[in-house]
Order: sequence, then C-alpha cells, then structure tokens
Amino acid sequence: MQEQVRAVARTGLVAIVGRPNVGKSTLLNALVGERVSITSRKPQTTRERVLGVLTRGTRPATTQFIFVDTPGLQRGGRSLLAQRMNRSARAALAEVDVVVFVIDAHGWRSGDEAVLELLPSDRPNIVLALNKTDTLSHYEDILPVLQDSAGRYPFAALVPVSAERKRQLDELLAEIEKLLPEGEPLFDGEQYTDRNLRFLAAELLREKAFRLLGDELPYGIAVTIERWSETDSQLEIVAGLLVERESHKPIVIGAQGAKLREIGRLARADIEALVGKPVRLETWVRVRRGWTDDARALKSLGYD
Ligand code: GDP
Repeated sequence: MQEQVRAVARTGLVAIVGRPNVGKSTLLNALVGERVSITSRKPQTTRERVLGVLTRGTRPATTQFIFVDTPGLQRGGRSLLAQRMNRSARAALAEVDVVVFVIDAHGWRSGDEAVLELLPSDRPNIVLALNKTDTLSHYEDILPVLQDSAGRYPFAALVPVSAERKRQLDELLAEIEKLLPEGEPLFDGEQYTDRNLRFLAAELLREKAFRLLGDELPYGIAVTIERWSETDSQLEIVAGLLVERESHKPIVIGAQGAKLREIGRLARADIEALVGKPVRLETWVRVRRGWTDDARALKSLGYD
C-alpha cells in the first residue's frame, strides 16, 4: 500500500529564505552537493534563477527539488526593511511551491521577524529550518525555540538541522517533499556543478585551440583554469594554455596575438552559451614541460 502511495513523481520550486548569515548558502550546498551554477541550456520555467537541482528516488517515484533564487529575499537583506513592501519578493514567493525559512537554532531575532513579515500569511507551504544545532550546548535548548516558533506562524514543519554537519537534512527534505506537487522532473540529469562547468570550459578552450592550430602543435595542448570568479552578472575566467616548449608559444599566440585572440573569442562564445551570462576570458600561453605526466597539472584539469 505504502509503496503505491510513493510511486508518484513530485517536482517543484523551493526557495530558501532567511536573514543574512543564518546559513542559507551552506544549506543549499549541503542539499544539492556541489553548488550547481546554471542550467541555462534548459528553458527557464520561471523568472527565478535556478540555483540548484536535487533529484532523488527512482522512477516512477522521482522527486525533484528545484531550488530557486527569490530576488530581494535570498541574498542581501541589508535592505530588507526597505524591501518590506517589495512586491516582487512577495510575488516570487507566491510562485514557489515550498519556502524553507532558515533561522538560527538559538532563537528568533528581529531580522528573522522582518523576513517572516515578507512571507505570505497562513500559507501551508513554509517549513522552518532551525540551523546550526551543532552550536547548541544542549540539544534540549532547542525545545523552547520550537515552541516559540510554532506560536509565530502555522509552519508546515519545524526541523532542527545542521547544514554544516549535514545533520537532519533527510528529515528536512522529507518535509519539503510532502509539500511538493505531483509532477515529472523538469531537469533531466544534466546538471552543471561548478566543477564540471570548469571542466567543460577547459574542454571548449582546448577544442578551439586544437581546431585552429591543428597539426602545428606536435605535442598537443592542455588547458588549465587558473581563476574562476563568478558573480550574478558575469563570469571571469583566467585560463592557461599549456604547451611543452618555449618554441611552441609563438605558434599558439600567432602574429600579433591573432591566433590566441581567435581561440579566446570562439571559446568565450561557447562558454557564454553554456553558463548563460557574459564571460570575460583571459588566456595565457604557458610552457609546462611534461604536463602530461604532471599529476598536479592533471588534477587542475579535472582528471583526478
Ligand atoms: P547565508 O548568509 O544565510 O547564506 O549564510 P552562510 O551559508 O553564508 O553561512 C553563514 C555562516 O554560518 C558561515 O560561516 C557558515 O559556515 C556558518 N554556518 C552555516 N551553517 C552552519 C551550521 O549548521 N553550523 C555552524 N556551526 N555554522 C554554520
């Protein structure tokens, strides 16, 4: 019987909200594993940005948690008071299926109350996560906080967690899952984490270099990502094109840098399409002898 009840797919949008520093990003990372950057190859289902996707279970009982950014609530917060009347934050929250409201397990602060005021009243889809339970001297200290919380809002569930120690996260997910609507997964396994995005970016660069240089480089070329710095609006990458010999450098660079510029231009376009935001790509040609044998180099290339 129970099996039958579970044999249904659920999919929905989840927003993690809370005042700054309560551990929202830590929690998101703990839930989706490595930070999932962007899934821009997929059509965006909402105007919110997808921060990460977690798919659990096996078909047909797959559950897909799509964590989205809710502008005005998720980040910043310094201007939270100013945003109390922020309609777009409210509208964004009204669009998600589940809201995970994070507070510190030590208790409510005025910043938490400000966030609570932004939440739609009397919605049955808000789960309170009381985070950082690992910092409580006695676990029972949470009992009065639970009681206090229950009196403040009809939360669907109250779940003490430790995002950092990854404690009680299954319980949290189970509570979220109960609130997700039935539906087939929207994202099918093609999720890019920071790590494999880097790898893909390096691959794209290597592929362009290979295409433009062809047989000119007898020992081939490797690419290493030296810097990867991402903001909401752009991605900055510093990449090294590794050649075996000093004499190979001018081949890659080309007359007045034309070859290297063209490699960079083509790779940048593809990486932009991959990440869905403007990319600043800086490329340097470096001589690294024997990079093929160099374990560290391989590791930085993502081959570990
Ligand atoms: P955000 O501003 O809400 O996204 O908060 P962050 O995720 O950046 O976390 C703020 C600080 O709290 C960081 O120093 C985290 O390492 C820390 N933190 C987050 N979760 C936990 C937890 O469960 N236990 C402890 N001890 N620290 C945590």
